[in-house]
Amino acid sequence: STPGGSKFREEKILVTVRMRPLSRKEQAMYDLIAWDCVDDEHSIVFNNPNHERPATTYTFDKVFSPTCSTQKVYEEGAKDVALSALTGINATIFAYGQTSSGKTYTMRGITENAIKDIYEHIRNHQERDFVVRVSALEIYNETVVDLLNRESGSLRLLDDHEKKGTVVEKLVEEVVKDGQHLQHLIRICEAQRQVGETALNDKSSRSHQIIRLNVQSSLRESSGCVKSFIASLNLVDLAGSERASQTNADGTRLKEGSHINRSLLTLTKVIRKLSEGKRSGHIPYRDSKLTRILQSSLGGNARTAIICTMSPALSHVEQTRNTLSFATSAK
Ligand code: ADP
Ligand code: MG
Repeated sequence: STPGGSKFREEKILVTVRMRPLSRKEQAMYDLIAWDCVDDEHSIVFNNPNHERPATTYTFDKVFSPTCSTQKVYEEGAKDVALSALTGINATIFAYGQTSSGKTYTMRGITENAIKDIYEHIRNHQERDFVVRVSALEIYNETVVDLLNRESGSLRLLDDHEKKGTVVEKLVEEVVKDGQHLQHLIRICEAQRQVGETALNDKSSRSHQIIRLNVQSSLRESSGCVKSFIASLNLVDLAGSERASQTNADGTRLKEGSHINRSLLTLTKVIRKLSEGKRSGHIPYRDSKLTRILQSSLGGNARTAIICTMSPALSHVEQTRNTLSFATSAK
């Protein structure tokens, strides 16, 4: 890795915001659109429908309006980061936002697009051998479960001193044949993620899902220097961001501690530190399962994209403001 700050600048976290359309339910409740996307595609303005608050503008690397396709969100908000795993750089793509803001919808599309591009890249680089493996896990209440092998129960995290990272004990890694096979495995994971959803009706708002693609590559023709690498791409659908705060939307402190999601809270702290350019000093990776698992794919020589999702509705303004202020602190 290159010393000095210049490299860090190039590889700062890519932060984008995606506003979904007003939902049927919001429309049926005569909810109002509270935010305008500015034409330059970089800013959002609170448009103050009730004239209760001063207008505020938030600016990001990119803002995707409700009419933007997921394809565009992928191309401009995730593609470069996703493809860096094919050149040996660990990468992580997150969707961050309150429950029902569009995280799962967005990550599905990002994953589909990334898979297409990954296999296109592999076809176009016949001089290299690629092996892709997939693993998938869910973190719920700091318990890690294998989405490709739910029967294995709660998985332990182990420190791997050789690789200087954390490994998930007994996590299944399937070798992927092609893009279709990968899509199939991911659908199985999605079905697994729904297990227990009815008994705990807010489970998906509390759990994190990580789909990890491990890409192993080596040059076919060994011309003396065989350049091989292994890198991972992490596709992460986070718990609802309303769980990132210890306070309610109105600023009062929450009574029940169960509301707070340790992994999400720690992730926001880690991201803030990384975006401040803290390369030394303490970054609290070890304070949660999510950040331990992702440590080698965050900061350092890794690339990160965060897509913050938001509802345009006035009724969600407080949570949306929280999301946008997280997004601002992550830039
Ligand atoms: P989350 O995962 O953040 O809780 P979802 O991805 O489940 O939210 O989205 C909530 C609802 O909104 C779903 O019905 C989804 O299909 C819809 N939705 C989300 N984003 C969009 C979008 N950009 N365009 C159209 N519908 C969307
Ligand atoms: Mg979801």
